[in-house]
Amino acid sequence: MINVLLRAVYPRRCPHCRGAVPADMLICPECRDAFKKIRPPYCIKCGRHVNDDTEYCEECRSKDHGYSNGISVFVYDAGMKRSMSDFKFHGWKENADYYVDEVLRSHAGDITGFAPDILVPVPIHRSKRALRGYNQAELLAEGIGRALGIGVVNDLLIRNRKTVAQKTLGQENRSANLKKAFACNTAKYSESIIARSFRKVMIVDDIYTTGSTMEACTRILLDAGVARVGILSVAAGAGT
Ligand SMILES: [Zn+2]
Ligand SMILES: [Zn+2]
Repeated sequence: MINVLLRAVYPRRCPHCRGAVPADMLICPECRDAFKKIRPPYCIKCGRHVNDDTEYCEECRSKDHGYSNGISVFVYDAGMKRSMSDFKFHGWKENADYYVDEVLRSHAGDITGFAPDILVPVPIHRSKRALRGYNQAELLAEGIGRALGIGVVNDLLIRNRKTVAQKTLGQENRSANLKKAFACNTAKYSESIIARSFRKVMIVDDIYTTGSTMEACTRILLDAGVARVGILSVAAGAGT
């Protein structure tokens, strides 16, 4: 009831054009096809589009990523970039409902097919979380987990500290720098809990670009005893 009243006073805003959205919709009808979706076939590692005759995109062929079963929905173009920026930096938490709905519409079967024991959002540093009030990846993981009945463990991965700006580093230092930025919360989750209950993990994040963040998180989880890691992002851009 409160929600209905709130929606009457503050209608949901469109994740694309920012206009008011009719009640019970997550995006306005004019914008329903405005965001470009990643077309199949997909790279089986990262989820980006590939040509018919290959399983991996060029980047996944040349890099030794530890994850598999990549899922992503949208092309990270200018429109999606703006929408994501509203979502992450300007408090538009409600955009998560639309993104989650689209993830499920396109890939619910791929997620349940991978059958993760848990979903783990990519963490942000606690100072950033305090400032922003939420971690956007958590909102996504929670929405997906709730719909599919998969548990979400928000504190399995911890963000240690702010990293040195990645741009200033070479490729090798980048991965080392990023890996140091994350840790597994072994104080709370023992090796035996991980081995028993978190065998298969799907990491959830908002955007996939080079895969280096996903890879850093994957390595930490594999080192901690997770057997397999899949990855899910809302949008994927061209890597470097
Ligand atoms: Zn719109
Ligand atoms: Zn790929």
